[in-house]
Amino acid sequence: MKKKRLLIFLSLILCAASGAAFAQINTIRIKFIGNCGLYMSDGKLDVYVDFPYQSGAFNYMKYDKAELDSIKDKALFIFTHRHPDHYAARHLRKLNGKILGPWKVAKKKRADLQKLRDSIPDFSVQVFKTKHRFSSRHSSYLLSWHGKKIFLSGDTEMAETIAAVPHMDLAFVPYWILADAKEKGLKINAEKFIIYHLYPDQKISGTVPENIKLLQKQGEVLSVPY
Ligand SMILES: [Zn+2]
Repeated sequence: MKKKRLLIFLSLILCAASGAAFAQINTIRIKFIGNCGLYMSDGKLDVYVDFPYQSGAFNYMKYDKAELDSIKDKALFIFTHRHPDHYAARHLRKLNGKILGPWKVAKKKRADLQKLRDSIPDFSVQVFKTKHRFSSRHSSYLLSWHGKKIFLSGDTEMAETIAAVPHMDLAFVPYWILADAKEKGLKINAEKFIIYHLYPDQKISGTVPENIKLLQKQGEVLSVPY
């Protein structure tokens, strides 16, 4: 009997120890769903970016229905604009999270920036009005989360906005932003560039520099330690 108790005691200690070790590694997990669609979480706050969108719109990436079914309750949904490869109202209707977008969102679903800043510790969003062809309203965003700066460019074609941000840990950009910056001689102050919004079968030639990561594998998870 005593031996059994000791075993239970030891296994409890081991569980506690592994729990503590795990808790020390704080990370923001960023899962790539498809197109500019991301799911980010620090274990407390769930943030979706440009998701749910319309699967397969404009021949861009499709996703499994399970992605919709697994959407977290009371999440924050951030949209750059309302083109169908970024946004799908019919999928969003059933969800009870808050929405941040460059259009007029119904009051009960609207994510108030000041309230977000006050209610969620270590999280804030800066909004930039940016231009996108064929879209009257488009925003890019800078998230500050646990001290990490994460820029979400969306579909904008212009690099001026991102080039004016003093420092970013991660910059999610389509490849054309890098091309635009190069052409205009603008420097983008990001430690790491994540290229998203590639076509499902898009071929990339040449070597990719170390500070650039291409998001092609749907379901891939990036970890941002803080
Ligand atoms: Zn797009």
